[in-house]
Amino acid sequence: MSTTRTLPVIPLRGMVFFPGMVAPLFVGRPRSTAALQTARRDHDGQVILLAQINARENEPGVADLYDVGCLARVDRIAQMPDESVKVTVEGICRVQLQSLDEGDDHLVANVIELQPSTDESLEAELAALVKRVRQAFEQFAEMSRRIPVQKIAHLLSIEDPSQFCDMVAANIGLKVGERQQILAKVELLPRLIRLVELIEAELEVAQVEQRIRGTGRRRSEVTAETVTTNAQGEDVDEFKNEMAELARAIETKSLPQEAKERLEREFRKLKMMNPMSAEAGVVRTYIDWVLSLPWGEFSEDKLDIKAAQKILDDEHYGLEKAKERILEYLAVQRLTKGQGKGPIMCLVGPPGVGKTSLAKSVAHSTGRKFVRISLGGVRDEAEIRGHRRTYVGALPGKIIHALKKSGTSNPVILLDEIDKMSMDFRGDPSSALLEVLDPEQNEAFVDHYIDLDYDLSKVLFLATANFLQAIPIPLKDRLEIIELDGYTELDKLQIAQQYLVPRQLRDNGLADLKMTLTEEALTTLIRSYTREAGVRSLERQIGAICRKTAREILSTKRKRKRIKIDAKRAKKLLGVERFTDKPSEQEDRVGIVNGLAVTAVGGDLLHVEVAALPGKGKLTFTGKLGDVMQESVQAAMSYVRARAAALDLDRTFYEQVDVHVHFPEGAVPKDGPSAGIAICTGLVSALTRFAVRADVAMTGEVTLRGRVLAIGGLKQKVIAAHRAGIRTVIVPQDNQRHVDDIPDEVRKDIELVFVEHVDDVLRHALRLDSPEDFLKQPMTFSRDYLGIYAH
Ligand code: ADP
Repeated sequence: MSTTRTLPVIPLRGMVFFPGMVAPLFVGRPRSTAALQTARRDHDGQVILLAQINARENEPGVADLYDVGCLARVDRIAQMPDESVKVTVEGICRVQLQSLDEGDDHLVANVIELQPSTDESLEAELAALVKRVRQAFEQFAEMSRRIPVQKIAHLLSIEDPSQFCDMVAANIGLKVGERQQILAKVELLPRLIRLVELIEAELEVAQVEQRIRGTGRRRSEVTAETVTTNAQGEDVDEFKNEMAELARAIETKSLPQEAKERLEREFRKLKMMNPMSAEAGVVRTYIDWVLSLPWGEFSEDKLDIKAAQKILDDEHYGLEKAKERILEYLAVQRLTKGQGKGPIMCLVGPPGVGKTSLAKSVAHSTGRKFVRISLGGVRDEAEIRGHRRTYVGALPGKIIHALKKSGTSNPVILLDEIDKMSMDFRGDPSSALLEVLDPEQNEAFVDHYIDLDYDLSKVLFLATANFLQAIPIPLKDRLEIIELDGYTELDKLQIAQQYLVPRQLRDNGLADLKMTLTEEALTTLIRSYTREAGVRSLERQIGAICRKTAREILSTKRKRKRIKIDAKRAKKLLGVERFTDKPSEQEDRVGIVNGLAVTAVGGDLLHVEVAALPGKGKLTFTGKLGDVMQESVQAAMSYVRARAAALDLDRTFYEQVDVHVHFPEGAVPKDGPSAGIAICTGLVSALTRFAVRADVAMTGEVTLRGRVLAIGGLKQKVIAAHRAGIRTVIVPQDNQRHVDDIPDEVRKDIELVFVEHVDDVLRHALRLDSPEDFLKQPMTFSRDYLGIYAH
């Protein structure tokens, strides 16, 4: 699975950075320093390093940068005497550039992470290639004499073939373009093949050089050595100062006994080491990490429930249920003086419905610091709990990073997108997370890297997920689920007027201008420029209007104090409307039905297309259907066969046609039984040539005998139908008890038709001349009809 990331960019001149590499970087250009600052402030130190095609370009744009780069994490920063900074950077993984944005003061890239696939059948071939690289490299190192011995030893000790390949490429003096070729090859096999070619060519050059150098070699070696010794002298002085500082820091920092002793031991070790060695760097980084963590430093808890309620209300429109549950939770915390070991609250709902922002309000109302941990795409236990220090380039996991960032031992930590974690051979992150959340265990949480007990019991954990079903079950048992379902048009309008517009005006420096967006303008934005359960793109569109207006004001001399944006103006500013195709305004068609589904972005209209062609009884499905969905198709077929006579179909019709069921937008996996009646309707329509009403949508599971069973997510589905302009929604009779969940303003525009049987569905959904007469005959599951069943 590939994750898309948006991160600041540092362009590299004359160098290519690889995953697994840990090296100093000198950052001097103002745009790069700005990128560095953003990375440290907002992205946990993560940046995208892209090599410049032409090193001389001072402000490179998209055409001047290679499009495969390295996602890296910035660690230690040292200010140099001249404005520039020296940072220690660790390469994390390859990334493919998707798009590059100029940004305000630095470049921002949209990238996807690239991971080599693991193909076991290639193992022997890879091993052979690695061996060849290894031999060539040893020979090269010996001959060129440019690589220090420790480094050679270190490189040869790398076991991971991918990392080995990259590190060799980084150290054999290749040209930037050649290194980039290695970086750009994601798959290991072609990468190693290219490396073998390059290293063997280097070897030839080195051999020629050696012959030419002949006896001259000794002298040049001596000079090289003197130069490095001088440079080292200065560094050693600097290092001594740093050591004195470090000793002071360890002495003054208040630490638990265990941690203090550990640091003192590590510090003694550090003093004995060659300051320039890689090992010293490792120890030093460890000490810095332990010192940078908050140890028993707490922010004072505000436990006034009334005040908390006011903050939640002030910062959010609606969301009554969620707010109530949060307040109850806080009340329990108060009664138990923060020792309440209840479950962890998990806010579940589509993007943009206010999950993150509610969590921030919780922090705000309790006076705690807020940190967000993004779990999307995490698949390695070590990302949660860190790597052991023996591992090259080891670092603590996300929990420790979050604590460092918050600077307190009792922050609110938001575990964002816990449903997007996955699992692979490197261990299951969700079980690591369970330990973190378990009150029995989290008083002594141990990160593999820090390797000291850390008390997490005062942390207030909250979680979010888009999809309830995707949360790992053991984790779900620890969570108290609070569902946020998405907003109606009226909700959105209120949120826009009360929150989004004022905030965007403020953020775009237009607060003291009297700019208003009319209600009509906002409704246009909601209907024609966004299609979502939350309000994220709505906020973006409002932001776009604000920015465009700001620009116009700056470019005209005439200063106006009052600006009113109406619908017409909004359309002019934003250009072509994006969503105009109201299904309700489309024609009725044969075999095309509006189903309803709940996806990661909330409720949505899901079209079902069924075609019946002369053939031999073949049934095909396309559009990424899960097993359950395929069973629904078969159940629908059984129903239609049982109904053949009443539908005027030949008794053996199914042997004479091929049926194709297709769900457009094939990239989205679809499963679940709730499309049953939609499939059935599509099938009947395709076979009988009665068109399906375009202004009707439906959801319901179907049994072999055509009974319609209840489904989940009624509220979200009906809101989605409403958003799409549908007038009639067919739903299972058994779902009647959920009708109260549907907001009134949606209810009043939509006719709900409750059904118990597919026959009723068809009467309402098909364009029929006389629906009353349709399907009058009883179902035939009788012996004389099929010859086998006794009914
Ligand atoms: P999520 O975390 O669910 O994806 P966010 O919390 O990021 O969504 O919300 C997106 C934006 O919409 C934020 O700016 C948030 O403040 C705003 N927003 C969402 N719901 C509400 C609401 N009920 N009241 C006010 N603002 C809201």
